[in-house]
Amino acid sequence: MRATAATAVAAAVAAAVAAAATAKTPLLSKEEYERRLERSLQYIEGAAGNTFHCCKEDCHGWCFYGPGLNRFPCPCCNSVNCVNCRAIHDPMNCKEYQAYLVREAEKNEELKQSLNQLQVSS
Ligand SMILES: [Zn+2]
Ligand SMILES: [Zn+2]
Repeated sequence: MRATAATAVAAAVAAAVAAAATAKTPLLSKEEYERRLERSLQYIEGAAGNTFHCCKEDCHGWCFYGPGLNRFPCPCCNSVNCVNCRAIHDPMNCKEYQAYLVREAEKNEELKQSLNQLQVSS
């Protein structure tokens, strides 16, 4: 099962590389070439399934993930993604980040309650 998926991914990568190579004609502007390359990569990302997308807003970086991959240093924005938490939480470790999330959730809960009180009193 995993081997089949990997083969499909390899085929998709080969197709994208071939598409990128044929796109390298003088008629194609650099922007158009990059747009096509990006589209190909986005297609592979969507088709592959076992991909991890960089958590930074507007970043196009992504990678394949599998067992054992916990950190993904994004080549596009240089952020270190935590695959476990699906977040960028450097320099916190996962435990600290989880605690931080709980704290934030509690803060939001307090905020929600105070907003509710405001609505009640007005
Ligand atoms: Zn990134
Ligand atoms: Zn983490």
